[in-house]
Amino acid sequence: MAGLAHAAVGLAAKPLVPKVNVGWLILGTYMLDILWIAFWGVGLEIWPAKPGAHPLWWDHSLLMAVVWSVFFGLLASWLGRRSRYRTRIGIVFGLMVFSHWVLDWITHPMTALASHDTGIPLAFGNSPLVGLGFYRSLTVVWVTEIGGFLAGLAIYIVWRVRRKAQEFG
Ligand SMILES: [Zn+2]
Repeated sequence: MAGLAHAAVGLAAKPLVPKVNVGWLILGTYMLDILWIAFWGVGLEIWPAKPGAHPLWWDHSLLMAVVWSVFFGLLASWLGRRSRYRTRIGIVFGLMVFSHWVLDWITHPMTALASHDTGIPLAFGNSPLVGLGFYRSLTVVWVTEIGGFLAGLAIYIVWRVRRKAQEFG
């Protein structure tokens, strides 16, 4: 997981689907971590991560990230089935879920925060562990988290102000 940077993606996506509550979009960006907690609860994921025992298969592998993104995208489009934007809602929500993987791929292995972090797997078994490892440095963590969050928030606020101006203009 990256922290606030995920929420920033949700905030920034709000203008794409104005009718969808931004809270849902933010929830979508954390879906893979929520799944991780659920799988941890039933013993499929291991924490603290130990060397050789950090699979992340069910929630953070590229394969499962695609599966979950499609699944939640379809679910969102079904929940929004009365909207004429249902297709767009589904696509945007699916992208929110998948954006988590992209950010995690950029930031893992985040050894600045978890020394045993090895990266995220492509699939199950002995599939390669990947990640650009941006979060090997604590400075980068803070700059990206705060900067990313403020950027997402700025997009959201500018969009809201413009929309209000249109309503009253
Ligand atoms: Zn994560």
